[in-house]
Amino acid sequence: MLFDTHCHIQFNAYKDDRDSVIARCTEKGVIMNVVGTQIPSSISAVDLANTHDGIYASVGIHPIQHDVVDVEEEADSFQTRGEQWDDELFYTLAREPKVIGIGETGLDRFHIRTDLSIEEIFNKQKDLFLKHYDLARSVDKPLIIHVREAHDEMIDLLVALERKQKDEGTTGGKLRGTIHCFTGTWSHAQKYIELGLHLGFTGVITFPTKASDPNTMNVLEETIFNMPLDRVLVETDSPYLTAQILRGTRNEPWLVEECVKKIAAIRGLTYDEVAEVTTYNAKRLFGLAI
Ligand SMILES: [Zn+2]
Ligand SMILES: [Zn+2]
Repeated sequence: MLFDTHCHIQFNAYKDDRDSVIARCTEKGVIMNVVGTQIPSSISAVDLANTHDGIYASVGIHPIQHDVVDVEEEADSFQTRGEQWDDELFYTLAREPKVIGIGETGLDRFHIRTDLSIEEIFNKQKDLFLKHYDLARSVDKPLIIHVREAHDEMIDLLVALERKQKDEGTTGGKLRGTIHCFTGTWSHAQKYIELGLHLGFTGVITFPTKASDPNTMNVLEETIFNMPLDRVLVETDSPYLTAQILRGTRNEPWLVEECVKKIAAIRGLTYDEVAEVTTYNAKRLFGLAI
């Protein structure tokens, strides 16, 4: 059994053959967390979860969906929607039993408007993140956190939130969630782990290293080698970030097996051991029966 903790099979990239993609994944025993990036894709994620065994959903607004920008990705190009938070809608969706996470939400320095300063953009993204943070605490579900070229800013924000909670004497426990598609350094990873978070690894970890010496561990391998195994999650971010063996084609959640293979190689474990521990970690984080 495998757990793809972050995919977008509700996207248009699957409009012609979604059923066969789901069938391939189910046949391989892959559980999926279908992650919303705006209101329609959050609703369609919940619809998929409510009509399929082994499919769960997360609901939220991706930081780049808050503004209107043109996005070019390998599997997709689209214009974002300039979407606003809808308290009532998200609280209703978040309480659905098959909704296991809140997000994706976070900070993104990559696809942004050019007519605003980075401070202005991050301030807007932080406000939106706080809506998700409050919702996650209120329904007691973990956050799905997206961070692109903004790890220092995200760590500062999370540390400040933790301090604020302590000052207010609010109980409610440690921050729960995952930094999805983690691509930071070991130093970033340590800070997230200390904050109580999990790290999700995509097919990016299967890409060849640019290091001139093939024996040198790259930055991501260093994190995977060093980090506590009980905080490791695997994910595909389908339709994006297809693992090396099929790179350049549309990703599918069953390819999460490539992430498991790579982590097994780095940690000197068997495929089955890594499949088991990452599935266990995901079920524990998302509050599913183990
Ligand atoms: Zn993301
Ligand atoms: Zn995503």
